[in-house]
Amino acid sequence: MDFLVLFLVYLVCVLTSVLLLCLYSKRTHNFAEEILTDESQVFSRFIPKWLQGATQRVFHHFFHTRNCIFIILHLALEVAVYSEFTWEIFHYCLELEFSVFHLLLPYLLLIINLFFFTLSCTTNPGIITKSNEASILQVYEYDEVIFLKNMKCPTCNLRKPARSKHCSVCNICVHRFDHHCIWVNNCIGALNARYFLIYLLTLTAMAADIAIITTTFLIHLVLISNMSSGTYFDDHGQEQPVDIAFLIQHLFLTFPRIVFMLGFIIILTFLLGGYVCFTLYLAITNQTSNEWYKSSRAKCHRCHNKDPVQEKPSIYRNIYAKGAWNNLQEILKPITVYKKKN
Ligand SMILES: [Zn+2]
Ligand SMILES: [Zn+2]
Repeated sequence: MDFLVLFLVYLVCVLTSVLLLCLYSKRTHNFAEEILTDESQVFSRFIPKWLQGATQRVFHHFFHTRNCIFIILHLALEVAVYSEFTWEIFHYCLELEFSVFHLLLPYLLLIINLFFFTLSCTTNPGIITKSNEASILQVYEYDEVIFLKNMKCPTCNLRKPARSKHCSVCNICVHRFDHHCIWVNNCIGALNARYFLIYLLTLTAMAADIAIITTTFLIHLVLISNMSSGTYFDDHGQEQPVDIAFLIQHLFLTFPRIVFMLGFIIILTFLLGGYVCFTLYLAITNQTSNEWYKSSRAKCHRCHNKDPVQEKPSIYRNIYAKGAWNNLQEILKPITVYKKKN
């Protein structure tokens, strides 16, 4: 069916775009450079120099400087989804006598989500300064593989505590640095990792809940209309029993905005669900994204390193793990300079 092929192409395009954005959001500058500036690249031969420069500047502005563009995009998407949910689905579901608690749950999740989103955006992630440098240096031991003793940040001119990293976007060193998140326009570090985790959990729950309500609503419509046991005439005038493909096409033509939104929300639920699982795995094993990335590189380097002398110092062991519950506690009650001082 032409319609279904087009719909699948749309799903694949959206999914690929989101994945590319996720994959390259942290390394976009290099990605753009590889595509646009290397003479051996195919693209650079067809794109004028001025356009390459402009694109690099736009990429740099979006991904390598602090700006609110992704916060605005994030809020705009939430407004779009909730408007559609409120004006079309909520109204129909009330008529179909859905449970009011179930219908109000997405709004409750939205309030909690916006609260923790604001905290993730505005909370100090654990900025290392001259005044707290000495106490943060005491918090974690150096593993001497990823974090080496007596290293200095050349930009901040401060000694680097174990598990810290300099964020080139915010231009600060951050205690227990996880990553710089473009969606909250802030670093995720020791002091706001707990807010970010709850924000992610509620965002995933919101997407999953709206997807479940919308799917249930569409199934209800199909069952009430008894459409599934009907027939239709195909392009050759033959009478055919209604199948899944016909039902999807019919629903898309009858409720285009709802089905479009549902496709988007389902993709989002799977992507966010995967990311939440990864974040929870990091939390219960007491690793940051930065450490996970560097440790896998260290292990990979060791695998490919044939020199036994070089092999020795690369052996990585996570020395910060203290059992799943204690590791989670560390996220919820971060070890801070203030606690260390007491
Ligand atoms: Zn620094
Ligand atoms: Zn940052």
